[in-house]
Amino acid sequence: VWKECVEHLKGELSPQEFSTWIMPLQARQEGAQLRLFAPNRFVRDWVRDHYGNQIEQLCNSSSNQKVTGVQLEVGALVKNTGNAISAKTPDSREQTDGLAGDDRLMLERRRASNLSAEFRFDTFVEGKSNQIARAASLQIASNPGVSYNPLFIYGGVGLGKTHLMQAVGNTILDRNEAASILYVHSERFVSDMIKALQHNRMDEFKARYRAVNALLIDDVQFFAGKDRSQEEFFHTFNALFDTGQQIILSSDRFPKEVAGLEERLRSRFGWGLTVAIEPPDLETRVAILQSKASLFGIELPEEVAFFVAKRLRSNVRELEGALRRLGANSRFTGVPINLEFARTALHDMLIAQDKQVTIENIQKVVAAYYKIRTADLLSAKRTRSITRPRQIAMTLAKELTKNSLPEIGKAFGGRDHSTVIHAAKKIAELRVADALIDEDCKNLLRTLTS
Ligand code: ADP
Ligand code: MG
Repeated sequence: VWKECVEHLKGELSPQEFSTWIMPLQARQEGAQLRLFAPNRFVRDWVRDHYGNQIEQLCNSSSNQKVTGVQLEVGALVKNTGNAISAKTPDSREQTDGLAGDDRLMLERRRASNLSAEFRFDTFVEGKSNQIARAASLQIASNPGVSYNPLFIYGGVGLGKTHLMQAVGNTILDRNEAASILYVHSERFVSDMIKALQHNRMDEFKARYRAVNALLIDDVQFFAGKDRSQEEFFHTFNALFDTGQQIILSSDRFPKEVAGLEERLRSRFGWGLTVAIEPPDLETRVAILQSKASLFGIELPEEVAFFVAKRLRSNVRELEGALRRLGANSRFTGVPINLEFARTALHDMLIAQDKQVTIENIQKVVAAYYKIRTADLLSAKRTRSITRPRQIAMTLAKELTKNSLPEIGKAFGGRDHSTVIHAAKKIAELRVADALIDEDCKNLLRTLTS
């Protein structure tokens, strides 16, 4: 009866309404009674108030089997118990049968979550650069809403933030098919809200975002300067947080550094656990390449993996792009991938990468970071507020460019190579002794290499 009813509703409601309110429901028929389980109170009340009559009528008029009453409650039909989200289940032991054969609904539920199936923990390569973020994500996947809330993942472009947060969503769904998960990019949140405002459907908008067990919002830096969206998100955040639903956020920088964000949001973003993803080291980059190669079915010799990983340093997405190009070229020409092949096929990418970090570029970025003028870096000034940035810029030039030490010295107002060596030594010491300087260096590195 319920399946029939679902089909009807699907035809009558908008796809969004359908996926938000009807798909999370699970049904169990007991004689003439149809029991509907909603993942939380919020969904239950909304469904009762908006669709209750409709559902009842549909069920009553079903040709299939006689249903005289519909009962809406909070809970879930679950196969594996002991999961935080399904803890409210009134009696889960004998309710597993209601779910049998409902794979299609399950698929639709996955689709409604906006999650991409390919982002999983088993395709995420662990390395020093992402170890903590991965561990925290794993923990949340097995204990949503309980361990850390919110989880805030930050790091440069293409380092795996989206991958990790979606892996959490996918894992929660794997373990509890009744969980309702919603992944959205923050731009999508903004445009959804604008649409809702236009069409006078704010109630529905609010309800949709508050009806979930886990809300995953990607790239929250896009909320910057959008006051109305922030206001709305603030209330969504509170509603979810207060009822113990999991929130996961990502951003390209630390919560406190996201400009144009209201203070109350910034502080909330830091309430749970904040974890960074750094650019992966060489070995991790090689491991990622090899893992993706076997995923894509590309024969990638280790030598070539090292060659590519050594040159493309900052961004996993770029590594992946290089690998795809190698695979496509090799398939197209029938030539197996070797070093020479890679050098030719990736020529333009490698040049672009080599060109990217120049001394001039470093000076510009460092000056902007410390809010001084580029000219100050090249000047003879010896005040601390200038010498530190100058030493950091020289160190970065030594590490990131191919220029020789005399060339670097010369580019910094005609200093000599021993000044560069001294600067690099000084900064190395300071990074150990002073966490703030270390943080500055990391931020600058991230900016320059991503
Ligand atoms: P971000 O959201 O931080 O910009 P993504 O999560 O979109 O980055 O990652 C970019 C690409 O790199 C994706 O295809 C992702 O699968 C891949 N990727 C990033 N980090 C890893 C990793 N540690 N292991 C495997 N793939 C990774
Ligand atoms: Mg992303």
